[in-house]
Amino acid sequence: MNTELKNDLKTVPMYIGGEFTTGAGSVLMDIINPANGEVLAQVPQATRQDMQSAIRAARTAFDSGEWRQATGIQRATVLFKIAAALRAKASELAELETLNMGKPLFESEYDLGDAATCFEYFGGWATKIYGEVNPVPDNAVSMSMKEPVGVCGLIVPWNYPLLMAAWKLAPALAAGCTMVLKPAETTPLSVLELAKILDGIEELPKGVVNIVTGLGEEVGAELAENHQVDKVAFTGSTEVGRLIMKAAADSNLKKVSLELGGKSPNIFFEDCDFEAGVENALFACFVNQGEVCSAGSRILVQKSIYEKFVTAMVEKCKTIQVGPGMNPENKLGALVSEEHLNRVMEYIAKGKAEGAQLVFGGERLGGDLAKGFFVSPAIFAQVNNQMTIAREEIFGPVAAVIPFEDEAEAIAIANDTPYGLAGAVWTRDIFKAMRVSKAVRAGIFWVNHMQPTYCEAPWGGYKQSGTGRELGKYGVENFLETKQLHINLNEGPMGWY
Ligand code: NAD
Repeated sequence: MNTELKNDLKTVPMYIGGEFTTGAGSVLMDIINPANGEVLAQVPQATRQDMQSAIRAARTAFDSGEWRQATGIQRATVLFKIAAALRAKASELAELETLNMGKPLFESEYDLGDAATCFEYFGGWATKIYGEVNPVPDNAVSMSMKEPVGVCGLIVPWNYPLLMAAWKLAPALAAGCTMVLKPAETTPLSVLELAKILDGIEELPKGVVNIVTGLGEEVGAELAENHQVDKVAFTGSTEVGRLIMKAAADSNLKKVSLELGGKSPNIFFEDCDFEAGVENALFACFVNQGEVCSAGSRILVQKSIYEKFVTAMVEKCKTIQVGPGMNPENKLGALVSEEHLNRVMEYIAKGKAEGAQLVFGGERLGGDLAKGFFVSPAIFAQVNNQMTIAREEIFGPVAAVIPFEDEAEAIAIANDTPYGLAGAVWTRDIFKAMRVSKAVRAGIFWVNHMQPTYCEAPWGGYKQSGTGRELGKYGVENFLETKQLHINLNEGPMGWY
C-alpha cells in the first residue's frame, strides 16, 4: 500500500552518495509487521531518477579509483569494521528483522551472526585476490590480473533481508567494486540500519555503497537496464531473473549472476537414520516458514517406510508452535505478507483439488493470530511429482511427500523438475549416497543433512535455479574481471614485414 507523505510515522531514508535522503519523489511505502498487520515504518518509494542518482554516485566513486585502488588491507579493514558493528548491534538488528519479516527471533539472531561472518570471511579475501602467470611459449611474460568488475546492482529478496544483502555486499566490497543495493519492497528496514553502520566507517568512501528502496519493476528494472551499471547480482524468483537477463542483454550486456528459485528433493531411503531423518524432513522444509530457496519441499520417501515416516512427521509437526516471531516459544513465524499468504493458501487448495492428501495443517490461523499472516505447516501425502504442489515453488511451509520404489525411481523423480538448486539424500550406505549425489543435477547437495550453509562453500543452482555461484572463492570471482597482460621481452622489430 502506498500513501502520500505522512508525518505520524517513522520515515526511514535511503542512502545515496553518502547522504540519507527520501529522494525526489513524494510517495512512501508502508512497511508492515506481518505478525499483526500493523505499519512499522515508512520508506521512500524511489523514482527512476533516484535510482539514476545512486548509480551516478556509484559510478563516480568507482571512476575516482579511491576504493578500487585502496590496498587489500584497507578494504579488509572496512569489512572487519562492518562485521564488528553488526555483532555489536546484533540483538537490535535481529529484532528489527523479525518485526519486519516475521521469522522467529532465534532465526534472525542466526542470520545476524551469519551476516557478520560473511563480512569477516570476505574481509579475508580482500588481501588474497591474486592473479596468475600464464606459461606462454614466447619470450614474454603473460599474466592474468584480477580487477573489480565496476558498478554493481545488487538486487535481493525478502526471505533473509540482511543476510542476502551481506552475501553480495561483502564480496563486492572485497573485490573493490562500488554498488547500489535494492532491498525487497517488503523488508528494507535492516539494510537501512546497515546504511548507518556504513556511514560511520570513515575509511569507506562516500558513494561506494548506495541503498535505494522502491518497486522492483521500477527501480530494480532501472538497475538492470542502466548502461552505467557493469554487473547485476540478483537473488529472487526465476521469473524476475529471466527479466533481468533480458534487460541486461538489451542494454549494455552487463554481467549477470542469478540465484533463483528451487523445488529441491530431500530423499529418504529405508536404511536412513529414521529419527534424524524425520526431524530434518520437517526442518529443511519449514525453517524460515518454508520461505527458503533451498527448501526441501519435495520429500521423497521409499515405499517400504513411507507410512511410518509420514505418521512420524505428523506427530513431530504437532510440536511446532506457530506464532509471532518475538515469542521465543514459536518455531514458525508469520509469512512475509498477506499477498504471499494468499498465494500459499491457493497452492494448498490446489494440492487438495488435485488429489493429494492433506494429513496435517495447511490452515490460516485465526483467533489471536488473525491479524497476522500465519499458516499452520502443511504436510501433503500421496503426492505424485506431476501435481502442481510438486512442480512449482510455493515458498511457504508446505511439504509434498512423494513415495518411490527404488534408487532409480528416486533419481528420476528428483531430476524431473525445471529447477536444480539443491537436494539431499539420507542413507547409511555410502556407495548409494555417492551414486545419488552424483546423479541429481543440483548445485548444492547434502548427505544425511539438509540446509547447513557456509560462506566458505559455493552456493548456486543448475538449470533454471540460476547462473553463477556465490560464496567461497566463487563469491569474490563474481565481482572480478580477468585482464590478460602480455609483456614482450624481445627488443627490436619482430621481422614480420
Ligand atoms: P522476486 O523475484 O519477486 O523479487 C526479488 C527482488 O527483485 C526484489 O528486490 C524485487 O523488488 C526485485 N524485482 C522485482 N521485479 C523486478 C524487475 N522487473 N527488475 C528488477 N528487479 C525486480 O523474489 P522474492 O519474492 O522477493 O523472493 C523469493 C524468491 O527468491 C524465491 O523464488 C526464492 O527461491 C528466491 N531466492 C533464491 C535464493 C538463492 O540463493 N538461489 C535465495 C533466496 C531467495
